[in-house]
Parts: sequence; C-alpha cells; structure tokens
Amino acid sequence: MNMHDFVYRNGEMVCEKVSLTRVAQEAGTPCYVYSFKTLVEHLQKLQRALRELDPLICFSMKSNSNLTLCKALVDCGAGLDIVSGGELYRALKIGTDPQKIVFAGVGKSDEEIKEALHRRILFFNVESIPELERINQIAAQERRRPNIALRVNPNVESSTHHYIKTGVGTSKFGLDFETAVKLFKEKRKYPSVRLVGIHVHIGSQITESRPFVQALRKTVDLIEELKRHGHWIGWLNIGGGLGIIYQRETPLTPRQFADAVVPILKGKGLRIILEPGRFISGNAGILLTRVQYIKETPAKQFVIVDASMGDLIRPSLYGAYHKIVPVIKRATDPSTALRAGDRRRTTAVDVVGPICESGDFLGKDRELPGLQQGDLLAVMSAGAYGFTMASNYNSRPRPAEVMVKGNRFAVIRQRETYADLIRGENIPPFIAR
Ligand SMILES: *Cc1c(COP(=O)(O)O)cnc(C)c1O
Repeated sequence: MNMHDFVYRNGEMVCEKVSLTRVAQEAGTPCYVYSFKTLVEHLQKLQRALRELDPLICFSMKSNSNLTLCKALVDCGAGLDIVSGGELYRALKIGTDPQKIVFAGVGKSDEEIKEALHRRILFFNVESIPELERINQIAAQERRRPNIALRVNPNVESSTHHYIKTGVGTSKFGLDFETAVKLFKEKRKYPSVRLVGIHVHIGSQITESRPFVQALRKTVDLIEELKRHGHWIGWLNIGGGLGIIYQRETPLTPRQFADAVVPILKGKGLRIILEPGRFISGNAGILLTRVQYIKETPAKQFVIVDASMGDLIRPSLYGAYHKIVPVIKRATDPSTALRAGDRRRTTAVDVVGPICESGDFLGKDRELPGLQQGDLLAVMSAGAYGFTMASNYNSRPRPAEVMVKGNRFAVIRQRETYADLIRGENIPPFIAR
C-alpha cells in the first residue's frame, strides 16, 4: 500500500487537499499528519478482498491508538485489537462495541483481566498456561465465562526483522502445538472459560504469502485435529503482519493476500478475525519536521531537524528505513538554484535529531537536494508505530497529531507542554527543604 494521498501539487507536498506548509504553520513541528482517506481506504480494501470470509477486522491499536484515527476505523466497521488496559480504555472511550475487541499480550495483569471481563470483550488471546489459569480463576471470582483463543506458535520463519518476528519456536509469544492440544484435553481444569478459538500471529511487515500460507495450513490442521477429538472451535484469529512499502518492498496486495489465504480458510466453519495494524495505518501518516541546522564536518553533512528518535524511534530501534523528502521541491524551482545551500544539487546527508544519542537519526546517507534552515521535510510511512512509540526522552514534549480529511484538517492531539512533562511528579517532604 502506498502513499497516494501525500503527493506534490505545484511543487509542494499536500495531504489530500491540504498544504503541509499550512499544517506546519498552524500545528507547529514536529507533528504527525494523517490522511483520513488513505486510512479508511486501506481498511475497505481489506474488507472487500476478504468479503467471502466475512471476517471481523480488528485494527491493531498498538500501531496507532489515537482516538480520532481509531474512531474513523471503528465507524467503518472495524473492531480493535488491544494489548493493554490503556488500549481498552481508549477503545471504550470511542464507544467501540466490546464484542469487537480482542485482547492479546503475554503479560496481562489481574487488573487488566478484570477490566476486560467486566466489559465483556469478545476474546482473550491467551499466550501461556499460567495466564489461562489466572484468567480462569479471576473469571470464577467475577462470575464470568469469557471466550478464550489460545495463541499458538506455528514455528514458521518469515524474512522480517528479528525484533518483529513472533512465529518462531524461540519467541516469547504463543504456545507450541503440543501444549495447545494438551490444554484442550485438560479443559475441564478451566471451567470458567470457554476455549473456543485459536489465535496465530507470526510477525510484522511480512511481504510475501509463503509464511502466512504455511502458518495457516498448520493451524487449520491443528484445528481439524482438535475437532476430531471432540473440541468445538468456532473462531480462528489469523493476526496481522501484512507489510507495506517503506522503500522498495513489493508487499502483497489485499487481493493477493486473499488469494493466498481464503482457500485455506473458507468452508471450515470458522469465524475469522484479522488484526492488521501497519497495513492500515502505516502509509496513512507522515512525520512533518523542520530543518534546524545544516552542519558540515570534514566527513559528513548533517541535516539537524526538530524531530527525533523520541518522536519516531523505528530507524534507531529496528534500523528501519523511512523515505525523507522535502515538502517544497527545490529542484523544480530554478530561481532557488543560486542559494548558498545549493552548492551541490543533491548530497548524501544524515538526517538527525536533537537528542543526545548517536542513535538519534531518522535517515542516513540520504540524497536530498540542498536544504536550508527552516525547510520542511516529510518523513514518510510514519503512521504505524510512530506516535505510539514516542517518548519524552531528553524532556522533549511529544509532538502534535493532525488529521486531514479532504480540504479540512484538525489537531487531533495537542503537542505536549512542559507542564505535561512533569505531571504526576512530586517532591516528598523528606527531600523538600
Ligand atoms: C502487533 C500485533 C498485530 C499487528 O501487527 P501489524 O504488523 O501492525 O499488522 C496484530 N496482532 C498481534 C497479536 C500483535 O502483537
């Protein structure tokens, strides 16, 4: 999926019909800018391609949990995939039907389990035996009987970054098939839960069909085996992980994904759940940043911008590539070719942030046309795992978020203030003097 709603018009990048220069003027920089149209279209493309399965598509909130963005998706029929009590709180705030909420994660606390039980969410995706025991025990106390999907680990390789692989045997996620079978055999030990689903999620940014096909074949075989042993399984949650274009990847289109997985899943009497995150939000957002300084050293040219690893950590954390482009296309404007900063038309530069870490960079050795202080840059494909991973490191307020729809836009989350930075801190009397 690409970024067709972030394009140049008369040499300036716009989001839908809104000038990014104008967004920067009104919202300040750095800020995230999302396209409503791209966002919703990605969901709808997936819904259409998989129509035959009539799945429940639960958007993975950890990729982007902004209330407005999630509400836009929920209004289009999406459910939500949550991984914490905080995400449950956000999901409920925007009025999501709890019967469209699924809860994953290896470390659910008692409090989180209770909150989700009381709201009667659709599924707990369970990742270990002690977690199953804990949910069963709390459900008994609270007189509830929640749906459980066991997350299994099909042990397939995917050629994605090892930090975002989750379907291999050595991963902390999911249960091996033998343990899953054993738990079903012993399900009388867990009378306060309904073991009625299987969940599988093999990793993120997967761009080929093979790992999905392998994982789903194995998982469907497991389900058939369980059914032969008399266990009723009504639901299969096939997770997320669909990759997008950051640089030159050739990810699966929704059609290709459907062609690969629908034959394995249809006619099996299973209700299908999906949990895409990046596929929906990734290319629906950019990070808008302004050039602070151009620093020349004998070895390198650095473009120091006002966004940092605190705003977008993916380059530092995963070595991830994000395209970086100027908001105003200089090269097309001959009148500016004489400016001092334009000695070389394009130069390989490192785009770095203000944080005191060598790892604070957004891009390395990038060919960018001669930039100057004050120029705006767009860091592309930043809608997923961007703001949600932002931190206050170096006491920097987290950036604003802006939603564009057609020719309108609004700040959907204000830039943090210094007061936000110290909220909740207090100096105890034995320190204060
Ligand atoms: C992170 C995650 C997802 C979403 O992954 P994407 O690659 O963003 O689609 C879905 N399901 C689970 C269980 C996850 O942990």
